[in-house]
Amino acid sequence: MNNPSCCGPENNGQVIESYEDIRIESAKNICGLCENYAERQKSKPIAVMCCEGACLRGDIARQAANILCHTLAPEKTVRICLGGAFTKNTGQRNLVRTAPRLISLEGCFVNCSSCMMHGVIQGLEPEVIIADRLYDFDRNLFGIDEMSPEEARVHANTVAMKIAATF
Ligand code: SF4
Repeated sequence: MNNPSCCGPENNGQVIESYEDIRIESAKNICGLCENYAERQKSKPIAVMCCEGACLRGDIARQAANILCHTLAPEKTVRICLGGAFTKNTGQRNLVRTAPRLISLEGCFVNCSSCMMHGVIQGLEPEVIIADRLYDFDRNLFGIDEMSPEEARVHANTVAMKIAATF
């Protein structure tokens, strides 16, 4: 488990400290279901954001976040919708901002979810967990089609159980 500064500790041993200015269009639409969910979940002590990446590492992290929040520790954790928290200053971002414990579950050392949320909440200090360090696999693999769904699920379970053991 790591808590590095934004964008992670691994760039051939270098930490890259630079910033890129971006403009995010204000979201025109608000989802009432999402806002109600955020309201219902706000008393939970642990918020879990995930990078939600589409590669193998991101998908295993996504599955692990779901197992953690919906099966292993649903009473303690709230699963954050990263896109909703990033694009709108409403309920999901407020869950991230106010959670007593904030976990940023990253598929790999690029640390996308924590980098994104640092951009919209100044001074955010999530507990960064890099999922692919928590299970053994062939590190040359990239796509979700390069591993069986069953094996990916086993790794996601491993990640989720290791995190749940810290609660
Ligand atoms: S942290 Fe890694 S796996 Fe997740 S979205 Fe970023 S690059 Fe993809």
